[in-house]
Amino acid sequence: MTPVPDITLNDGAQIPQLGFGVYKVAPDETAAAVRSALQVGYRHLDTAAMYHNEEGVGRGIREAGVDRGDVFVTSKLDNGFHEPDSARRAFDDTLAAIGSDYVDLYLIHWPLPTRYGGDFVSTWRTLEEFAADGRARSIGVSNFQIPHLQRLAAETDTVPAVNQVEAHPYFTNAAVRDYCTRHGIVFQAWSPLARGTVLDDPVVGRIAEAADKSPAQVVLRWHLQRGDVVFPKSVTPDRIAQNFAVFDFELGDHDVAALDGLDRGPAGRVGSNPDTFDVISR
Ligand code: NDP
Repeated sequence: MTPVPDITLNDGAQIPQLGFGVYKVAPDETAAAVRSALQVGYRHLDTAAMYHNEEGVGRGIREAGVDRGDVFVTSKLDNGFHEPDSARRAFDDTLAAIGSDYVDLYLIHWPLPTRYGGDFVSTWRTLEEFAADGRARSIGVSNFQIPHLQRLAAETDTVPAVNQVEAHPYFTNAAVRDYCTRHGIVFQAWSPLARGTVLDDPVVGRIAEAADKSPAQVVLRWHLQRGDVVFPKSVTPDRIAQNFAVFDFELGDHDVAALDGLDRGPAGRVGSNPDTFDVISR
């Protein structure tokens, strides 16, 4: 019996609130990391074509002996494949790499407003095809700012199931989060540990010491109590286990407020700004 609560998406599907992210996990280390995570109890994996490790994710599931149907797998469309025919080919390649005839969730990785003539709408319509034929059980977006979400709302019929954006105590991404909450879009917080940088913060350290938990557990608990979906990354087995052991304590209002108070606004970003990010690596 998993301790991880499910969150219901706007299409009725359910996603485990805590998962395991594999950004920057080397392709040849991914299957081992995924096996570790599945053995601990994770049932939600977050990968992307851009991470070059979808194959390791699929292999890790098979090697762990866990039924594919028991694992929620997300992948994402790489930046060089936004045009509909390219997106169709890229999605076929993703399914082949994972070794599955479907993904649970497929996302546009970045909106790329300065590329493709600013057209992410036809890309979204292509993802709608994947949802219609059942090969993507749910579809969503990543790194979409409010104007990008508003444009999808005005020009298409499908509200994204999720928006996966940077969020952690140093950058709560409050306006985007508020938009998502008001429009039934589940908020997924990427780099939930701010890539480790927030773990040395004295406020986090004080709360962790008082709770007899690690700084990472405190930060993940803060996300979970806010209702965010998170998938911390680690290649270190004891950290993978530690990050999953966050359901036996609760932060009080005072601690939550102290963590909320660490927000630095956009200056707190550890990743790229979606308004300007335009990297196409292949
Ligand atoms: P995280 O915020 O998850 O931080 C990962 C870093 O924290 C690693 O250096 C890891 O080290 C360290 N760490 C993890 N757990 C602990 C712990 N318990 N104690 C101390 N250090 C710890 O960063 P990510 O950027 O990887 O974000 C998580 C996931 O979000 C990604 O893997 C990916 O799935 C997704 N993501 C999505 C993006 C998007 O554009 N959609 C962009 C970025 C991320 P080590 O591995 O050495 O143990």
